[in-house]
Amino acid sequence: MNSIPSIISRHQEFFTAGHTRSIKARLDALRNVKQAIKTYEADVLSALYQDLHKSEHEAYMTEIGIVLKEISFVMKRLRKWAKPKKVKTPLTHIGSQSVMIPEPYGTVLVIAPWNYPFQLALSPLIGAIAAGNTVIVKPSEYTPAVSAVLSSIIRDVFPSGYVTLVEGGPDTSTALLKQPFDYIFFTGSVSVGKIVMEAAAKQLIPVTLELGGKSPCIVHKDADIKLAAKRIVFGKFTNAGQTCIAPDYLVVHEEIKSEFVKEMKHIIGEFFGHQPELNPAYGKIVSERHFQRLIGFLNDGIPLTGGKADHKHHKIAPTILDQVKDEAPVMQEEIFGPIFPLFTYRSTDEVIAMVNARPKPLALYLFTNHKTAEQHILENISFGGGCINDTLMHAATPYLPFGGVGESGIGRYHGFDSFNTFTHKKSILKQTNRFDLAFRYPSSKIGLRLIRKLLK
Ligand code: NAD
Repeated sequence: MNSIPSIISRHQEFFTAGHTRSIKARLDALRNVKQAIKTYEADVLSALYQDLHKSEHEAYMTEIGIVLKEISFVMKRLRKWAKPKKVKTPLTHIGSQSVMIPEPYGTVLVIAPWNYPFQLALSPLIGAIAAGNTVIVKPSEYTPAVSAVLSSIIRDVFPSGYVTLVEGGPDTSTALLKQPFDYIFFTGSVSVGKIVMEAAAKQLIPVTLELGGKSPCIVHKDADIKLAAKRIVFGKFTNAGQTCIAPDYLVVHEEIKSEFVKEMKHIIGEFFGHQPELNPAYGKIVSERHFQRLIGFLNDGIPLTGGKADHKHHKIAPTILDQVKDEAPVMQEEIFGPIFPLFTYRSTDEVIAMVNARPKPLALYLFTNHKTAEQHILENISFGGGCINDTLMHAATPYLPFGGVGESGIGRYHGFDSFNTFTHKKSILKQTNRFDLAFRYPSSKIGLRLIRKLLK
């Protein structure tokens, strides 16, 4: 295998030679990725089952389909996005023109997590290619089957020096982070995000950090209970809760608690059967270490449903935990599994205080038809993004930028924002030579008077 520095130099040379710059080259690359995904679809599905027990329905919807759609969306609009953009010029600069020229950064590093190992490696890659960069992708060491298919796709589509998949764990990441990349796009945990940002700071490399956190799900007393239960069960237990924007904990108005829990139990049965931990189409926990961490959380409250596990296959039944203390371990970190602590509230002020006592979450979900409650919560809690009367779906539209705020991340992507993230906007002022206004020069007699008039 080639050494990491030699891989980076090859990518830098490929970029400098201009192979990735033309819109045609970018569109060809995107088209070829799309075709390769279709060619390898059966392998991707089988790898996702092997690594995470994702059913075909879930795998296509949340990994394959969403990536194909993103490529189509970007391809359709790329010519327009990549054009230099003329902007206004102020009176002080009369005679000149101003333009922003989008240009690629150069060689980009994408570090991906294991929970959506296909989508979260390819989605940033699409943005990086669309913007005209060369790319190194480092997938997670926890999903080797998916990494193997990604590697085949990338080798089939890209010539050496354009895109390379480098496999490995933290040691490989650490070695990569020492390289002179032009941009780093990281998806993963808050703790590793800090390591990535520190490494990037040493070389002043710009970063996007797509991180996680504890995303609340609030159910107000006027919510449509049946629909809310269905959409929340979907959002929480898809991929066995291993979703960065999964509802982490549930806060239900105390007047509807028992009715709501009853409906949640019913929906869990309908979606996953009465022994979900034995259902082959229900997701598994990615590793023994992650499984043991989650099993520990089961002691932090009283299970209203679930609480059972299949140790052999690393499966934990969808679990709603009641009587959880605020200081319990399950409330000290992102759960990232099918365990759902349940709290109640009486007033929206109470729920706002509860959420604001923790770092700004990546997502927030609110179920209500009450305009004032909605407005009150949206105005008083800061979070990356979210839904009213739904879960997860805000991340599945290319029209809404996706990203965190505060501890949940820096930067955003999807659709235009993916192109934008991997693009530097070079600002150019083109001055006229037909005349030369003298007021800025120190020799001008009326200069200062005019400057005082114009600059205020
Ligand atoms: P992680 O931070 O453990 O790992 C992510 C990547 O970083 C992997 O490729 C891993 O090999 C690498 N890595 C691990 N340790 C490292 C180190 N010391 N130095 C450099 N690189 C290192 O995250 P994970 O467990 O793979 O994923 C789960 C986390 O990711 C959750 O917190 C989740 O919320 C978050 N996440 C966020 C998003 C998002 O879009 N915001 C999406 C998915 C997951």
